[in-house]
Amino acid sequence: MTLNLVVLPGDGIGPEVTKAAEDVLSAVCKGAGLELKMSHHLIGGIAIDETGNPLPEETLAACADAQGVLLGAVGGPKWDGGSVRPEQGLLRIREALGLFTNIRPVRVFEGLEHLSPIKNAAGLDIVIVRELTGGIYFGERQEGDEVASDLCTYSAEEVRRVVAPAFEIAKARNGKLTSVDKANVLASSRLWRRTAEAVAKDYPEVTLSHALVDAMAMHLVTHPNDFDVLVTENMFGDILSDEAAAVSGSIGLAASASLGAPGTPGLYEPIHGSAPDIAGQGVANPSGAILSAAMFLRFGAAREDLASQIEAAVESALKAGVLTRDLGGDANTEEITSAILERL
Ligand code: ATP
Ligand code: MG
Repeated sequence: MTLNLVVLPGDGIGPEVTKAAEDVLSAVCKGAGLELKMSHHLIGGIAIDETGNPLPEETLAACADAQGVLLGAVGGPKWDGGSVRPEQGLLRIREALGLFTNIRPVRVFEGLEHLSPIKNAAGLDIVIVRELTGGIYFGERQEGDEVASDLCTYSAEEVRRVVAPAFEIAKARNGKLTSVDKANVLASSRLWRRTAEAVAKDYPEVTLSHALVDAMAMHLVTHPNDFDVLVTENMFGDILSDEAAAVSGSIGLAASASLGAPGTPGLYEPIHGSAPDIAGQGVANPSGAILSAAMFLRFGAAREDLASQIEAAVESALKAGVLTRDLGGDANTEEITSAILERL
């Protein structure tokens, strides 16, 4: 079997961190006798510079044919205030690939507990699954001078198609799923809760519980370790996933996957931006991109074994104290990448 991955390095530190992720992917696939085909395409600011378009047709066509897309980052001061913006490339690719499920693991790695602003986050290992294309961000909007409104609408199908992969993830982990809503107030949340209960019938091995979003916001800082997989609607997920990332304390380590319908290519990217302040210096932390590549193997290639192998190597390098500047060390991108490669 051949894996076909499209790499979109993008701007700023994007090319530096995706290069590291490619090296790790190549090594792991080679070790497993798996053929990996990677092709590079333009997105973001660099795509504007070369073609005038932040998401050239050619890039989109390549993505449609792939099993996954690995993205670095887009944007930077060079393109701020321009009529065409690099971020439009990202919005368009998400839309074109129909990515309705966003998956963000949040971890506190051994040896890095001190980076978390809270004292009981040691060993934190949760996954937040967020609905990405519905709800209030995409509802009917009315904007007047004195009155404005944003409508939050969900169909049962929109809920089902994001809750189902959350159950799958929970099943593959510890069999524990918490659905987060505001069902004491919102009709859309009551539909969400009913639908989650209905989907639960297909997953007898998973225990489903419900939490209100305000309570969940507290729990994430008081006892985050009580949770394993969370699933929630778009806006709640937006807020909670940033809160959780802050709780973990290290933006350079966080990965994400955005998935659409089964069998279509997902988008895998670190959660950090293009970090223009350190771009080109070779000091960016590539771990978020490397862990995103691991998510590609897990969700895009059904190779849980290889994904775990990469995650263990990253964990081990961090535990051994090979730390980039953002983590308080002085290792550069190449050094931490080598440390990870050695451990595969
Ligand atoms: P965006 O709007 O694209 O999210 P941003 O400025 O909000 O951009 P980042 O680009 O993620 O956010 O940068 C925030 C800070 O974190 C910067 O100081 C940056 O240098 C640092 N940072 C982000 N990613 C990394 C990384 N992989 N390694 C080291 N430092 C990083
Ligand atoms: Mg930002």
